[in-house]
Amino acid sequence: MNIILLGAPGAGKGTQASKIAQHYGILHISTGDIFRANIKGGTEIGKLAKSYMDAGKLVPDEVTCDIVKDRLTWADVKSGYMLDGFPRNLYQAKELDKFAKIDLCLNIDVDEALLMDRICGRRICACGESYHVSTLNGATTCAKCGKELYQRADDNPETVKTRLDTYKTQTAPLIDYYKAQGKLASVTSGEGSPDEVFEQIVKILGK
Ligand code: ADP
Ligand code: ZN
Repeated sequence: MNIILLGAPGAGKGTQASKIAQHYGILHISTGDIFRANIKGGTEIGKLAKSYMDAGKLVPDEVTCDIVKDRLTWADVKSGYMLDGFPRNLYQAKELDKFAKIDLCLNIDVDEALLMDRICGRRICACGESYHVSTLNGATTCAKCGKELYQRADDNPETVKTRLDTYKTQTAPLIDYYKAQGKLASVTSGEGSPDEVFEQIVKILGK
């Protein structure tokens, strides 16, 4: 099964993606992660992406679409995948329809008022785990692997504001796009704990 994870920044796409990957063995492809890996590796794509990401803007469509198109030619996608962070606007969604067959779009809906705090309080670990300062009790290392936690460069109030605006104007219209294709499934209480949200997802996806 090929799934799109849709939701505002801070909706919990990454968290749920790891849970889905673990539970169903579906491959997780995150364009944000791909860009961050490129920045870390100092590639040309990384250099280009960084300026947009730091500003909270979308990386140009052509670059992004090419990356996903290429990624979907790898052998490991054969048994199903989940796209996290792509598509992010109508152009990308239409391009995706040309080179992929999507079965379901899982939309995680979260009260907008919560998003700013969720993102600015987020602390992440290189192992992929993420936390919120409110539950860390002052801890600065990962409970899973012991590494030092850090904050993403774009998780600051100013950039988050732009990211949320970008979501509203460019990404949210995709909800109707996939509804019209009969592929939309919505998780309506994304404000719940990660486990509660995942329970809803299991109801949608089945055991
Ligand atoms: P979030 O959903 O929390 O904003 P992501 O890791 O998905 O985090 O994305 C971080 C940044 O990476 C975005 O703000 C954007 O600059 C860039 N990016 C990720 N996916 C895309 C995409 N599909 N198209 C354009 N830019 C993207
Ligand atoms: Zn860790």
